[in-house]
Amino acid sequence: MMSASLATVSYIGATILFILSLGGLSSPASSRRGNLYGMIGMTIAVLATVFGPKVTLAGLPWIMVAMLVGGSVGLIAARMVKMTQMPELVALMHSLVGLAACLVGFANYIDPLAAANLTSAEKAIHEIEIYIGILIGAVTFSGSLIAFGKLSAKIGGKPLLLPGRHFMNLLALLVVIYFGWVFLHAATVSAGMMALTVMTVIALLFGIHMVMAIGGADMPVVVSMLNSYSGWAAAATGFMLNNDLLIVTGALVGSSGAILSYIMCRAMNRNFISVIAGGFGTGGGKAPAASGDAQPAGEVISIIAAEAAEMLREAKNVVIVPGYGMAVAQAQHTVFELTQLLRGHGVNVRFGIHPVAGRMPGHMNVLLAEAKVPYDIVMEMDEINADFPDTDVAIVIGANDIVNPAAQEDPASPIAGMPVLEVWKAKTSIMMKRSMATGYAGVDNPLFYKENNRMLFGDAKKVLEDVIKALH
Ligand code: NDP
Repeated sequence: MMSASLATVSYIGATILFILSLGGLSSPASSRRGNLYGMIGMTIAVLATVFGPKVTLAGLPWIMVAMLVGGSVGLIAARMVKMTQMPELVALMHSLVGLAACLVGFANYIDPLAAANLTSAEKAIHEIEIYIGILIGAVTFSGSLIAFGKLSAKIGGKPLLLPGRHFMNLLALLVVIYFGWVFLHAATVSAGMMALTVMTVIALLFGIHMVMAIGGADMPVVVSMLNSYSGWAAAATGFMLNNDLLIVTGALVGSSGAILSYIMCRAMNRNFISVIAGGFGTGGGKAPAASGDAQPAGEVISIIAAEAAEMLREAKNVVIVPGYGMAVAQAQHTVFELTQLLRGHGVNVRFGIHPVAGRMPGHMNVLLAEAKVPYDIVMEMDEINADFPDTDVAIVIGANDIVNPAAQEDPASPIAGMPVLEVWKAKTSIMMKRSMATGYAGVDNPLFYKENNRMLFGDAKKVLEDVIKALH
């Protein structure tokens, strides 16, 4: 077993590695290294905890069994899950962090040893930690489960707008504060358990309500927000268990998730508070009605792969805009093949990445990195938007909401104000998708009907292969 000082040194080492890991993850070029730091840090952290001074020999077999079960489930899940299911898996993982915080909180409260030898002030602080820890944990748990449902389309994207929802949230907050007071003044453990249980139920309902009230278009903010909550839940667990490393790690995840939420809000031109209050965005993934008055009208010009190849052959500047459909079709390798072919012919090919493209932050960057697309031709939205007027062909591969001009042109649109990639300013835009269906936000896209837009219908991978064949 490890001495206390060696465990502390290991914890400090792990903390430094986690900070380096976050630093590495801030750019695609260094992200592999960042991941490696994270993995080494986590290995050190687990070893220092398991063999540290707080674990007795008698407890070791239990931990080993738990690690074996948990590790196997994680390994199987990671191997089985498809890339398109990653966002759901991440949401599910966040829910487990929340659940762990709740369970640790309850266990800590009923453990007679946890509060033994504490002065009354220390006991009060200990109980506040438990109360807040379970509160954050329960909101994270139920909120993440609903996010999982929404991301996997098991629950519809339409926001659930209950009448008087702001009032209900306020009431829930007041009740939680009141029971917090009851909890701190409880004379017996069973009286305290009653207050804890009532608060937990309210927190679970609040988590469900919070995420149900958010429309499809605003889900990215929720995903990053729950990421942040899971960090705070882990930090709260650290306080309850007196584990410094868990506190620091939780705070790192919590604050980086908060920064990510801010970035996502800015990317979508949303106010954080109004996103949380809910109600933006509408339903998801349905085909627009064939002849509704509100639908964008006009002719759609559809082309075949050979015609697209012809346009590309004559182009000098090409911008590729990938979206969720590229992930579904697993077309990233074929996209890169096309890129190499065009670059071989002297065409300037670049990628334009919208911050909320796909279904999780950085989704497109991960896929393009997997296909080994060089980082220097992958541009962020702000870097590339001004270049569309000088672009001959903009190819939109399975993206929809992130290139929707309604965000700029229609103030009544649920995505109004969200910055988008202005592909319609290119000489020609080619939209590669299977049908006329809407994207995740469920909003019609007037781009389909623009004079300089061409629709290239079909599965992105298959269509790209046909384009490559025609180019050859
Ligand atoms: P969208 O969901 O707007 O559009 C994707 C399009 O891909 C669909 O219209 C679909 O059309 C097409 N598609 C699906 N499968 C295929 C396929 N096999 N081949 C070709 N096309 C295909 O995706 P975007 O990336 O444009 O926008 C992301 C959306 O997701 C935004 O609304 C964002 O708010 C939301 N979101 C983002 C998150 C994030 O963190 N990035 C998290 C949660 C939500 P068709 O069916 O006709 O083929």
